[in-house]
Amino acid sequence: MQRNTRRGSDVNKLGDLIKLERLGEGTYGTVFKVHNKKTGELSAMKQIKILGGDADGGVPSSAVREISLLRSLDHPNIIQLKDIIPADGKLYLLFALMFKDLRQHIDGTRQQGNHLPSNIIRSYTQQILQGLDYCHKRRLFHRDLKPQNILLDEVGGLKLGDFGLAKLFGTPVRITTFEIATLRYRAPELLLEFPDYGPAIDIWSVGCVLAEMIQLTPFFKGTNPLDQIHRIFSILGTPRESSWPGISSSTIYQDISYSIEQTSCLSQELSDASPEQINLLSQLFCFCPKSRISAEEALKHQYFTEIFSSQENNAASS
Ligand code: ADP
Ligand code: MG
Repeated sequence: MQRNTRRGSDVNKLGDLIKLERLGEGTYGTVFKVHNKKTGELSAMKQIKILGGDADGGVPSSAVREISLLRSLDHPNIIQLKDIIPADGKLYLLFALMFKDLRQHIDGTRQQGNHLPSNIIRSYTQQILQGLDYCHKRRLFHRDLKPQNILLDEVGGLKLGDFGLAKLFGTPVRITTFEIATLRYRAPELLLEFPDYGPAIDIWSVGCVLAEMIQLTPFFKGTNPLDQIHRIFSILGTPRESSWPGISSSTIYQDISYSIEQTSCLSQELSDASPEQINLLSQLFCFCPKSRISAEEALKHQYFTEIFSSQENNAASS
């Protein structure tokens, strides 16, 4: 039964969509490819169950209002949210359809025994930073940047997915693999449980994604938050008050820092990385969030501004 015209038209909109194959599994549920039988348009549809809906199963208007903000994002490196359909106490989000996510692309490349060409790694990193720069300037940050949330088309284009959802809906407790997946891209200020954090958490994740594109496997492979801190400190060294003022106020840091020995370094871990990549990574992995490079600054790094070396051109075409 339709209670009013708005809900009635939302239900009709939903009825126009034919569910096709499953595109992927995310933090909030399954994403399906859908076909609009009236317009012929293909989209990716995500269904979000809203807790705390109103008594008759409707979606709270505050949730609709907030998510509507995401619709105003308009950038070539941010996935376009085409429509929001509230129905049956759920929100159906319709996104522009992409080809695959970066997790699938990295895994496929590794399974075929290949590397990602260096010009692709550079272009993807640049596109991620451009999307982040646009959002960070609008005081929006991602909070859950990882290869699964980075969407690719078939011609080298990249768009950030899942933007703002972590903030709007919280991160639901789900199967452990999802939590671990997120853990590996988590910035040290989150792992050390500092209450104030900002867009720098996304920049740390960009470092993790860049390193992963180079070696085709997650870079800091922790299995729980403490282990994650150990892995990071054992490669990058243990931060001190001199490099990260205030760090010693974290009780987690107080408990663990004495025991962590640096056993490696970035260039040893990433022997295939170019000097420019290592230099950029060292700034993306700056421990102190306030001193960590911003997306805008990172885009000016010589990694993006220098002409390709002949060695890279060879690697890219091989
Ligand atoms: P969640 O918010 O639940 O984590 P995501 O937006 O990350 O959902 O989507 C889950 C998965 O679905 C992604 O990792 C990706 O594989 C696939 N997917 C999501 N959006 C699209 C899209 N627009 N086009 C193609 N595949 C998509
Ligand atoms: Mg996701």
